[in-house]
Amino acid sequence: MAIAIDLHLTILGVIVGLILVSLLVHLALRRGSALGWMAAALLCVSVELLILRYGAHSRVGVAAIAVLVPAIYFFAAQAIREVTGLGLTSLRVTGIAAGLIALSLMLLTMPVPPTVQYVPFQLASIFLFLDGTLALARKRNRDAFENGLVALGFLVITGVILRVPMFPALLDEPTPWAVFDAALFERVYIQCMGVLNASLALLIVARIVAKVIVGYRHSSERDGLTELLNRRAFDALVDRPATAPGAIIMCDIDRFKQINDRFGHHVGDEVIRSFACMLSEHGHHAGRVGGEEFALLLLDTGLDEAAAQAERIRSAFDSLYHPAIGPDVQLSASFGVAAFEPGSSVHAAMRSADRALYTAKHTGRNHVTVAHEEDALPAPILSAA
Ligand code: GH3
Ligand code: MG
Ligand code: MG
Repeated sequence: MAIAIDLHLTILGVIVGLILVSLLVHLALRRGSALGWMAAALLCVSVELLILRYGAHSRVGVAAIAVLVPAIYFFAAQAIREVTGLGLTSLRVTGIAAGLIALSLMLLTMPVPPTVQYVPFQLASIFLFLDGTLALARKRNRDAFENGLVALGFLVITGVILRVPMFPALLDEPTPWAVFDAALFERVYIQCMGVLNASLALLIVARIVAKVIVGYRHSSERDGLTELLNRRAFDALVDRPATAPGAIIMCDIDRFKQINDRFGHHVGDEVIRSFACMLSEHGHHAGRVGGEEFALLLLDTGLDEAAAQAERIRSAFDSLYHPAIGPDVQLSASFGVAAFEPGSSVHAAMRSADRALYTAKHTGRNHVTVAHEEDALPAPILSAA
């Protein structure tokens, strides 16, 4: 028994499904204006499909299609522009497209062949979508997702352009294209466009979800004030045996509470940020492991070089001038350094560096202490408080 499947209604079902997916993702993530643009494009597609199915021959139906089709491509172009970080379509391009739509609407009231009436709004659609696709194609350093969007964009444009010469045949007008089966062409066209547009929509949803996951991952690993690794991420980094030699520097800003008390919490925050900035310039992985406590992981670095590195940071912070603090108050920090060998525990080295830091705090602050070698540290490294 043959089952008749209505093409328009089947694609409409897929489109409605995509609208629901977009809305659900949008609600779940509470962001993604690209999804809003895409939902608008898909909504216009649904209305167009309903008109094609039930009202394509009425005057109002044709006029609605003349507006809806360019609107679909306008909204889709905005979704692509939004998700790839390009600005919205320029007013000039939008204005030209609006003019072409107006021309179609005007021609629809005149006794001219339907092909002539339809061509301007089809050109508006091609123009809008081509503008977005070309803007993306011109973007430098495109990733695989953006290349996929460009390829899909050009396929869609090719499909729309190929269809324009078929209009006379589709509209039962005399045409040299009459050798083609217009109904078959239209069927294949709608199927291909259904697949292409659904792929485009899914690609955009996938991109937004991926972007949000990367964002959440970043904020779960980074400290909000300094952008350094947070305690959890730094612990995860050192919670494995070392594969190469290296060193850990633990540091803590001295008498920081006084800075907060005298100059205010916001000045304290700025000092923390300045210190963090210095740290990230000196190590391979810098973390904020407490309020004003930091850790620096140095790979392929020996104990002496790590201690020298800590001394450079100490000295730079010691000479930091903050306009709100002025010259009367001296900023300083204390440091503990420990090394690790391949196969040994980096976490254990971190604990040793922490003990060395404790020693530095209790022996006058503002200096570098090397784990287990506190007394043997060479003069330039161990600075006096
Ligand atoms: P020490 O030399 O012994 O380290 O003394 P300290 O004052 O630096 O240490 P203490 O632990 O007594 O005080 C640390 C202060 O850091 C207390 C806390 O209010 C402040 N703090 C922690 N996190 C932040 C932050 O994110 N911003 C600011 N402004 N202050 C913070
Ligand atoms: Mg402190
Ligand atoms: Mg502290």
